[in-house]
Amino acid sequence: MNLKNEITGQTKDHLIWSEEDKTYIHKKVFPKLQLLKKIGRSKGIDLAILSGFRSFETQKGIIEKKINGTRPILDDFGKTKDPKDLTPSKLLESILRWSALPGFSRHHWGTDFDIYDKKALPPGYQIQLTPEEYQEKGPFFELNEWINEITSNDEKSDFFLPYKKDLGGVAKEPWHISFSKLTPQYEKGLTYNFFINFVETKEIPLKNVILDRTQEIYTRFIKAYFHHSTM
Ligand SMILES: [Zn+2]
Repeated sequence: MNLKNEITGQTKDHLIWSEEDKTYIHKKVFPKLQLLKKIGRSKGIDLAILSGFRSFETQKGIIEKKINGTRPILDDFGKTKDPKDLTPSKLLESILRWSALPGFSRHHWGTDFDIYDKKALPPGYQIQLTPEEYQEKGPFFELNEWINEITSNDEKSDFFLPYKKDLGGVAKEPWHISFSKLTPQYEKGLTYNFFINFVETKEIPLKNVILDRTQEIYTRFIKAYFHHSTM
């Protein structure tokens, strides 16, 4: 196993393709996810995956599109920001609110998924992935209540919600679940030195802006969301 490549989304060796979910999933997580879906069905919830594994290149493409304006950069209220109005430093911060840097997305691991309830999807509805959709009166409120309930018993639950609270870095993402029994191995490998080395040696958008404030970016947008983070 090449942990470095698994952490940074540069290998699929540890993953298997799930035709039903239309994504790659970590081999060890696959049966656990199917079990979670089965429990959901018994509660009338049809848990489906909107986004699972993303490679380094895919994540890099997302960030590049946000920088060149072909993909929207949103503020906390869902309003679009024009990248031309932002200083490079503000641009980086605005992007990191909703998207991870390539190499540092939890979606690289095959253990993390953005979920929705297929059964609750109104016909023709386009999912936006906004907190409102997961709140009362939103289509995925029931799913949200159920996920909150099962993940609240941390000892027993296989999954947790890394972005359950807004800790001043990444915005609240009630749709993002993570397999808590396996992610600590990736989090442990993702040290501050690992972060700096990777940014220094890879072609990453806004690289110089990141290198100006590595400690803050690492702490605020990556480490703060680790499982059982003490921050
Ligand atoms: Zn996600």
